[in-house]
Amino acid sequence: MQSDAPSVRAALEYARANAARFTTRLAELVRFASVSGDASRRDDVRLCAEWLVRTLRTIGLPHARLIETSGAPLVFASLRRSAPNGRATILVYGHYDVQPPGPSAEWHSPPFTPTIRDGAVVGRGASDDKGQLLAHVNAIESWIHTAGELPVNVVCLFEGEEEIGSPALRRFLRTHGPRLGVQAAIISDTRMRAVDRPAITYALRGKMRIELVVLRRGREVHAGEFAGAVFDPARALASIVASLHEPGGRIAVDGFHDSIRVASAAERTYMKRVGPSDAEILGSGGLEPAPETCERSLYERTTLDPAISVTELQAGDAGEHGKSAIPARTSAMLDLRLVAGQDPRRIAQLVRTHARRFAPPGAHVALRIRSASPALVLDPRNAALRAGARAAEATFGRPVVFLRSGGTIPVVDTLASLGIPTVLLGFALADDGMHAPNERFGVRRFAQATECAIRFLAEAGRTLSPRPLQ
Ligand SMILES: [Zn+2]
Repeated sequence: MQSDAPSVRAALEYARANAARFTTRLAELVRFASVSGDASRRDDVRLCAEWLVRTLRTIGLPHARLIETSGAPLVFASLRRSAPNGRATILVYGHYDVQPPGPSAEWHSPPFTPTIRDGAVVGRGASDDKGQLLAHVNAIESWIHTAGELPVNVVCLFEGEEEIGSPALRRFLRTHGPRLGVQAAIISDTRMRAVDRPAITYALRGKMRIELVVLRRGREVHAGEFAGAVFDPARALASIVASLHEPGGRIAVDGFHDSIRVASAAERTYMKRVGPSDAEILGSGGLEPAPETCERSLYERTTLDPAISVTELQAGDAGEHGKSAIPARTSAMLDLRLVAGQDPRRIAQLVRTHARRFAPPGAHVALRIRSASPALVLDPRNAALRAGARAAEATFGRPVVFLRSGGTIPVVDTLASLGIPTVLLGFALADDGMHAPNERFGVRRFAQATECAIRFLAEAGRTLSPRPLQ
C-alpha cells in the first residue's frame, strides 16, 4: 500500500477538520422529502435539487446548474482545466431522490427530521443515496480548498429519478453523453462487504418488467348466472404464471437458459471465498430460503442465475366484500432478472411464445414490456476499477472485495454503451435500513467515504489517461 502524497494528505486533513460541518450538511440534505415516486412531493424534489446546486456553487463549482427534464431536474456541474487538457475526466454520479418513508409508526423519529442516534444520521435517504453522494461533494470541496484545483476533471451529475428507473438521466446520457468526454464514472450507491471491508460491485443482473394480460371478450359478468358458460381469465392467468417454472424452481420457458454465459471456475472459487453466506443473505429478518433445492449457494443463485418473480397479480374486485363476478381482464407483473448472455428482446420473445402456448383456448394473451436493461459485467482489471480499489484499500486498510450483485442499476448499462466503465464503490451496509424504516448512515463511515472519494480522485488523476473532447 502506498502512502498518501502531500496534496492528498492536505485534502484529507481538511476533510477531518470539517467532519462535523459535513455531518450537518448531510442532515440538511436528508430534511428534503425528495420522494420521486410520490407526485405530491414534486416541490420537495425540486427544492432538494436547488439546494444541491447552491451547495456545489459554494464549494467551488460556480457553474453548477439544474438541467430541466420532463421529470425531476438533473443537477449538473463540471470543473475542467482549460485546454490544452491533459487530464482524465470523471463522471461523479449520485441520486438525490429517495424511497417513500413507509409506515410512520415504524420510525423512531420522523423520516425527514434527521437525528443523530448511535453514531449515525437517521432519516430517509441518509444512506441511499444522500450520504454517499455527499461524500463525493465533500471530497471535491476538500481538494479545491487545499490544492485550488482537482487532480482530474470532474463532471457531477445527480439525478432525482433513480428510485423510478432513471428515465430522464438515461435519455440525457444517450443524447449528451458522448460530448462529455468522460473516461470513467464513479457511483457510490452499493454496499460494502462488512464494516471496514470495502467492496466494488463488478456485475449486475439485468432487469425486465413484463406485464402479462389475459382478457376475455365482453364485460365482467355475474358469477352465478355465467359460471360454467364463460371463459375465466383469472384461471387462465394463474395457469400461465404457474407454467413459468418447473416444480423444482427452474425457469421452464423454452430456450431461456440457452445463451447464458457461464461464470468461470476461477470466478466461482473467488465468489465462494469472499461472498456472503446463505445466512448473511437471508439476514436476521427471519427470511426463509425458497423451498427449491439446489446445491448452489444463495449468493450464486441471486447473482449468476436468472429469475422470474411475480410482483403483482390483479383480477376482479378486491374490495372489502369482494364481488361475485367473473372479471374480463386480469394481469400479472413479471420481474425478470437476466444474466450475462441474455438479450432482453430475445427473452421477451421467448416468454411471449411460452405464454401463448400455455394459454387455454379462449384466452387473449398480451405481453407489454415495461422496462428492459441487460446484465452487465465489468472487468475488475479495468484501470478505473483499480483506482477505486487502491483508494478503498488505503482508506480502510484492507483489500477490496469484488462482488456480484443481484440487483440492477440501469444507468450503468447506458454508460457502458457509451464506452464508459463505472466504478461501483459503495459505502452502505446491509443494516443501514435502505428502503426500510429508520434508515441511517454512520457518521464515521461518512468520514471514511469522504476520505475514499478524496483518494479516488487522486488515483484517477494519476492513472487514467484523458480522452479528447468530441
Ligand atoms: Zn440508491
